[in-house]
Amino acid sequence: MKILVANLGSTSFKYRLFDMETEQQLARGGIDRIGEDAESNCVVEIGSHAAKETKHIPDHAAAVQMCLDQLMHSDTGCLNSVDEVAAIGFKAVFAGKLSGIKIVNEELLQAMENLADVAPAHNPPYVRAMRQLQASFPKIPLVAALETAFHETIPEKYRTYSVPYQWTQQYEVLRWGFHGASHRFIGTRMAELLGKEDAKVISCHLGGSSSICAMLGGLSQSTSMGMTPQSGLPQNNRVGDFDPFALRLVKRLSGKDYDELLDELSTQGGLLGLSGVSNDCRDIEIAAANGNEQAQLAVDVYAADIKKYIGQYLAVLNGADALVFTGGIGENSDTIRSKVCEDMTFAGIELDSDKNSSTREEGKISADNSKLQIWIVPTNEELVVARQTAKLVQN
Ligand code: ADP
Repeated sequence: MKILVANLGSTSFKYRLFDMETEQQLARGGIDRIGEDAESNCVVEIGSHAAKETKHIPDHAAAVQMCLDQLMHSDTGCLNSVDEVAAIGFKAVFAGKLSGIKIVNEELLQAMENLADVAPAHNPPYVRAMRQLQASFPKIPLVAALETAFHETIPEKYRTYSVPYQWTQQYEVLRWGFHGASHRFIGTRMAELLGKEDAKVISCHLGGSSSICAMLGGLSQSTSMGMTPQSGLPQNNRVGDFDPFALRLVKRLSGKDYDELLDELSTQGGLLGLSGVSNDCRDIEIAAANGNEQAQLAVDVYAADIKKYIGQYLAVLNGADALVFTGGIGENSDTIRSKVCEDMTFAGIELDSDKNSSTREEGKISADNSKLQIWIVPTNEELVVARQTAKLVQN
């Protein structure tokens, strides 16, 4: 069985194709600038073969068609026909109560549309693309793996906000949590690496979006993102945790309305807003190293917030076996990892600085006498979604 896993942005489409008998990745690729006036770069890697074409791609249906054409190329392709694709799985974000692994149907699409307020950067492009794909490829089942499902094991005391309880019951205002596929992958992989099914693991997914998750035996016990993916740690351009009452003051002083202010917090906040330099951690680290004080502040705030969540989760789990770094920043930034682990020996967290700066792939980076093992583990959200999609279509 072959499963295509799609990762959508408003103008981009990234995918991986898996053979589920072996769980091997057969191909990966991506298409950018969808729907723009410019030509799109359509890149594909099939085994050791890599190719790139440029072409105008008007919408996501055309992007999927382009990807299938590349995968079915007579000389280099790995598919003979579209019928070989058993399903397309999506790492979808938020549909409220409709959580878990779902066939994409009108009920799901409407639920995602109704919650576009809550996930403005994620839900609208997914709904648009899913509708286009339903129309263009009616024979291929579309499956949504909702990010929130993994966090349904969080105890009520850690999921409930201290809002009027009616908000929780009637409007489902609670800590839903996101990045489910990534944290699930880390939980499963760490059980293998530690040789321990009931391991206590703190998973730090640090990337464009960042979240931390406390897991016991691979089950989520608490996570930093709450009702929306705008919360928790500072995100690339989204605010992270924040006191909503500041809005009343800023509204009066700026003359902007609440919608404008919320848009600003979800597009001009986070690392971008803090640093004034970029939403990309690499640029911020370079600016900080060159003496830009605001960029240095952004690095310091980000690392300090990660550290505070680790402290919380050591308390939630009553200690931990391992601390894991994953995601674009977690896997690549030795600066952030070392700042996060600074002065944490009291908690049994001690980095080996050579391993921290030299490890590029999966590897243990803790000092020999560190009580907690510290690991870099590249995440594989797409494989988790492929497994879940295959299971649903098999049933
Ligand atoms: P997304 O959440 O969009 O999937 P990724 O997990 O791919 O994001 O992470 C992307 C981020 O990783 C980039 O914005 C960049 O800030 C960061 N990043 C990648 N490489 C490095 C590096 N060498 N040092 C610091 N940050 C890096």
